[in-house]
Amino acid sequence: MAGEQASVIEQIVEQHGRDRGRLMDIAHAVQKQVGLFSEDTIEAMARALGIPHADVRDMVSFYSFFPRTQTGVRTIRLCTCAACRMKGMDAVASAFEKAVGASFGSTSPDGTISLEHTNCIGMCDQAPAALVDGTVLTNIKPEDVEQIVVAIKEKGLTKPLHGTNALGEAELNLRQPGPVIFAPMERGTGLRAALNMAPQDVINVLNKARLRGRGGAGFPTAMKWDLCRKAKGDAHYILCNADEGEPGTFKDRVILTEHPDLMFEGLTIGGYALGAQEGVLYLRGEYEYLLNHLNQMLARRRRLGLLGENICGREGFHFDVRIVLGAGAYICGEESSLIESVEGKRGAPRDRPPFPVQKGYLKQPTSVNNVETLCCVARILEKGPEWFSEMGTKDSTGTKLLSVSGDCEKPGVYEVEFGLSVESLLELVGANGTQAVQMAGPSGQCLAPKDFGRSISFEDLPTGGSVMIFGPQRDMLEYVKHFIDFFREESCGWCAPCRVGTTLMLKYLDRILEGNGTQADVDRLADLCQTIKTTSRCGLGQASPNPIFSTLRSFRHLYEQRLRPVTGSLPFDYEKAMRIGCESAGRPLELEGEHV
Ligand code: SF4
Repeated sequence: MAGEQASVIEQIVEQHGRDRGRLMDIAHAVQKQVGLFSEDTIEAMARALGIPHADVRDMVSFYSFFPRTQTGVRTIRLCTCAACRMKGMDAVASAFEKAVGASFGSTSPDGTISLEHTNCIGMCDQAPAALVDGTVLTNIKPEDVEQIVVAIKEKGLTKPLHGTNALGEAELNLRQPGPVIFAPMERGTGLRAALNMAPQDVINVLNKARLRGRGGAGFPTAMKWDLCRKAKGDAHYILCNADEGEPGTFKDRVILTEHPDLMFEGLTIGGYALGAQEGVLYLRGEYEYLLNHLNQMLARRRRLGLLGENICGREGFHFDVRIVLGAGAYICGEESSLIESVEGKRGAPRDRPPFPVQKGYLKQPTSVNNVETLCCVARILEKGPEWFSEMGTKDSTGTKLLSVSGDCEKPGVYEVEFGLSVESLLELVGANGTQAVQMAGPSGQCLAPKDFGRSISFEDLPTGGSVMIFGPQRDMLEYVKHFIDFFREESCGWCAPCRVGTTLMLKYLDRILEGNGTQADVDRLADLCQTIKTTSRCGLGQASPNPIFSTLRSFRHLYEQRLRPVTGSLPFDYEKAMRIGCESAGRPLELEGEHV
């Protein structure tokens, strides 16, 4: 490695206090200044930190935004989520390949631009979308692509195009603000109300409001905070999970753009209630363009005495927040994986118990809360638990943010009261002739029209916020396959049921989609799904068969229509079988004397 690069790495590590726990921050800085994580780069990082080479390699190799092989000066990552597919991703991909002169997964001949596919980047309401390093492009049309590529080559597109696309056509898409998250706020009101109470009373207020975590599982927030507060440790921590990676979810993007103060206020209230002095906002790597904006918000709160020492004049209450940027790993939305990532490690989930509230960040009691949940906390302290619990249903109080995408007239973010029926939502967003609604992302369930009377609530249809709408023209099984492929790519590989099972599910789906499947294949697929669900180690693997389970339940006819008619004899594709065999053995394919 060039001496110059080694000294850049040395300086970066020095700037981060030679702290191994800051490895995520260090890796981002190295990526910006050095680019590639070659073995030499990794060695220089390891030496500067005084840790084994393998520890650094183990960490950087886990994240898709830390390149290990040579890429172009700029990387265009085209989103492949369901909404982007519905809105013409394939045509945009072809236009990029033509304009760049390279196919996806490779780099242009002049070395300037690499093309890559990526999973959901949280721009489903403005699809098709792409990331160019930290810059986001939305509503891309094939005819715009040449101009975009010229702009990238000539100007680099280094400035984040906050809330706009390369051609200046963007929207925030907050379609329906509600009373909890998007009502105007007076900075510090909720926090001052909390500081007028004992920390335990803050938790009691949340209990009275019956607030449940907005990530989807709906765990009572007061219970989580109570467990964390009472757990023994040298320090307590509160982390905000802004890694909304579930495909079809983009509500945090709108909160963090429009109303981050409310979330920071909730985080600070959490610090007070838990007895924590340090909070972390874990921001998904795809939202890097929000980083400066959020740091400015934090700086302003420090200036106003809402963060730092003796907050709001309260003697002895010190609390501050730092932001850790993720690097393109869906599994880091799982709270124990997120904690690992904040500690500067690969984001592999931890075994439980102990739970994070007992032993979380740095082995200390830690509460991990969703962005929307923390906003609710601040508003409840401001307006009171009675005001909050009057909205929604008995077991799902307050409002819910929904990220609506796909086949409808008005995609975007809606703040609705819990209890709204799917039917009413479809009317609100201008969806007609809907064939299916994928509720809560690929991990959730696929609803058929017979389910549209059901209500969005923890007691009926829980969701972290993703609502994908499929019109009558969509081939649902193609999307099921895409969802399973998403889980296969995002599997951390730790346990076999998930690592191998996701690939096997895809093979069965391929066979059925190609018209070669039989009823026995469908039955075996259902058995396989059950095995994966019950034996996978974490939520990702356990939820990975859900797209198949729910479509087998409500759309079984779509599978049966594609099955091979029973003819009494099995078709055998000799050439295909030979090709697969030769590829696995690494031998050239020879057919009827020809050498391929
Ligand atoms: Fe990793 Fe999947 Fe196993 Fe979870 S279920 S630990 S993501 S391999």
